[in-house]
Amino acid sequence: MSKKNKSSVSIGEGNNCPKCNKPMERREHSKITEKILNQPFYFSEWDYCKPCGHIQMYEYKKVWNKNKRADDFKKTQTDFEEYNERMDFLKQI
Ligand SMILES: [Zn+2]
Repeated sequence: MSKKNKSSVSIGEGNNCPKCNKPMERREHSKITEKILNQPFYFSEWDYCKPCGHIQMYEYKKVWNKNKRADDFKKTQTDFEEYNERMDFLKQI
């Protein structure tokens, strides 16, 4: 996988992976792009598991974009999955 155009950067150690129990990497967006701001919300930080590719989002790291209608997005697992799809670039790391 290509490493150029990195959209996220490691900022230290995260929690242990809920799937494989290895230490994850804490990451944040290298730049808050317009694409991110056009989403209803984004995560300021998250954990990424290199060994298994799991991405762990945390509710308390969630940032709502003010200009979007938050009511349209209930806090369900479906939203997380949809968000993950939009964040597909993360899986290209
Ligand atoms: Zn893992």
